[in-house]
Amino acid sequence: MADTKLYEVLGVSKSASDQEIKKAYRKLAKEFHPDKNPEAGDKFKEISFAYEVLSDEKKRATYDRYGIQGIKEKAGGGGADFSDDLISQLFGGRLFGMGGPFGGHSRGRPHRGEDTVHPLKVSLEDLYNGKTTKLQLTKSVICSTCNGKGSKSGATFTCASCRGCGFKIHHRIIGPNMTQQIQARCSDCQGEGEVMNEKDRCGSCAGRKTLSVKKVLEVNVDKGMKEMQKIYFRGEGDQQPDQEPGDVIIVLEQKPHDRFQRQGINLVTTETITLTEALCGFTKVIKHLDDRQLLITHPPGEVIKPEDIKGIVGEGMPIYKNPYEKGTLYIKFDVQFPESYFNNDAKLKLPP
Ligand SMILES: [Zn+2]
Ligand SMILES: [Zn+2]
Repeated sequence: MADTKLYEVLGVSKSASDQEIKKAYRKLAKEFHPDKNPEAGDKFKEISFAYEVLSDEKKRATYDRYGIQGIKEKAGGGGADFSDDLISQLFGGRLFGMGGPFGGHSRGRPHRGEDTVHPLKVSLEDLYNGKTTKLQLTKSVICSTCNGKGSKSGATFTCASCRGCGFKIHHRIIGPNMTQQIQARCSDCQGEGEVMNEKDRCGSCAGRKTLSVKKVLEVNVDKGMKEMQKIYFRGEGDQQPDQEPGDVIIVLEQKPHDRFQRQGINLVTTETITLTEALCGFTKVIKHLDDRQLLITHPPGEVIKPEDIKGIVGEGMPIYKNPYEKGTLYIKFDVQFPESYFNNDAKLKLPP
C-alpha cells in the first residue's frame, strides 16, 4: 500500500515540487548533520533516505504508487548507505541495497531564478527626447552540450565528503577548551551536495552546467521616464538548471544636468540677468533639451526682483506614455547687482 512516510520525514506535502523537496532536505540536513548534531545520526539517515527516494523521478513515482515495498523490490546493488535498521525504524520492514547514485534530477515545477539588476546612466536629454541604447550583459545560459546536466550521462552521486548536504563543519581551536564551529561550503561538490564521475564531466561547461555568454539588450528609454524607473526584460536573467530564469531589470539613473533640474513633470532653470535687464527688460535665448532655442522676452517697465520666477507652460518634461503633453519650464531669475551697489560707502550705518 502506498504511504506518505517519506514526505512526512521531509515535512513536505505529497504534491511538493523537486525544488521544495530539495529545499526541505537542505534545511533538515543542515539541522541534523552528524557533525553538528552527533545525537541525531539516525534522523539524518532518515532524511537522507527520504531525499534519495523523493529526489529521483522514477523512485518517487514507484514510491507514490507502491509505497516503500515498491522501492524494496526495485532496489538493486549499490552502496549500503541506508541500513535495514533505518528502514525498520521508518517502516517496520527490512530493506537491502539502497543507496548509491542519486538519480538525475527531473524537471520539476519551475522555481524562479534571481533577477539581475543593472543601473543605466542616462542624461536629462535622454529622458526628454527618448533614446534607444544597447547594453551588453554577461549571463549564464544552460550548457547545450549536456542540457544543463554537467555530465555526459547525467548521472550524479551523493558527495561523500559532505554526505550530500553541501557544507562541512570545521572546528577551530581558539583557546583552552574552546573551539569555534565554522560552517563552510563543501569544496568537493561546490555546495551542490552531489558530484559526478570525472570521466563523465561535460567538456563544454566543465561540469558547471551553465556557460557565460555575452548578450546585448536593446533598451528603450521612453520620453518622460524618470530617475529610478525600472525597465524589465522578462526571463533574460541567468539560466540555471531546473529553474525559470529571473528578469533583467534596468534601473535608470539620471546624470545631473548643468542647466536644468527636473521636478516631476516640470523643469527648473536659472537665468542670470543684470540689474539693468531687470529694470529695463531683455530678450534671452534658452537652449532647450532638444536643442531648440527658446526666446524669453521681458518687456521694460515690469521690474524683475531677485528670485522672481517665470513659468512657460508646455516647455517642461514630456509626460511618460503621453509625451505630447508636457509640464512647465520655470525660469528663476538671478539678478546680478553691480559691485558698487554693495561697497562700504553705500552701506547705511545703523545708530548704535
Ligand atoms: Zn555541459
Ligand atoms: Zn560535498
